[in-house]
Amino acid sequence: MSGKITLLQGDITELKVDAIVNAAKNSLLGGGGVDGAIHRAAGPKLLEYCRTLNGCETGQAKITPGFDLPAAYVIHTVGPIWHGGDQGEADLLASCYRESLKLAAEQGLKSVAFPAISCGVYGYPVQQACEIAINATSQFLSKDSSIRKVIFCAFDKPVHQALMQALDSQK
Ligand code: ADP
Repeated sequence: MSGKITLLQGDITELKVDAIVNAAKNSLLGGGGVDGAIHRAAGPKLLEYCRTLNGCETGQAKITPGFDLPAAYVIHTVGPIWHGGDQGEADLLASCYRESLKLAAEQGLKSVAFPAISCGVYGYPVQQACEIAINATSQFLSKDSSIRKVIFCAFDKPVHQALMQALDSQK
């Protein structure tokens, strides 16, 4: 299933895929990091739409149009804040990937791009987070054949390298 997984380094807001995933906050009302970049690139209609969604629980996901983005949709998921690892962080992070992919599959989407959820201000140790990202995604893809391509879009080199390592150890 890892044949459907591609890694790249760059800006997720530039990707022309069916859906990009946003590492959002519980309020879904925007923030810094990738969330801010997505809202800037999608335009003000995204925030307007997000206001109608009543937020999102950690580990869950909600979908919106992509508005001015090249991507047709944005899947907003809320990663866990790292508190040391004994507060269910790993399960919640895996759930972000599963729930996002489930929404994508339900909508008939074929290509999805993820940022490194929780790896910025939420402070998740990068190597552990990348292993969870790759493992949860391959597990999902082994059961669902409708999604054809999952891109992990790292913004910086350390995350890109951690993803490469996680994907290699999967094979
Ligand atoms: P979180 O709050 O879930 O930690 P952040 O947005 O702070 O979310 O960071 C998540 C990851 O997204 C980090 O690795 C950060 O470097 C990366 N990132 C920030 N901007 C972009 C972007 N435009 N495209 C892809 N990844 C990005």
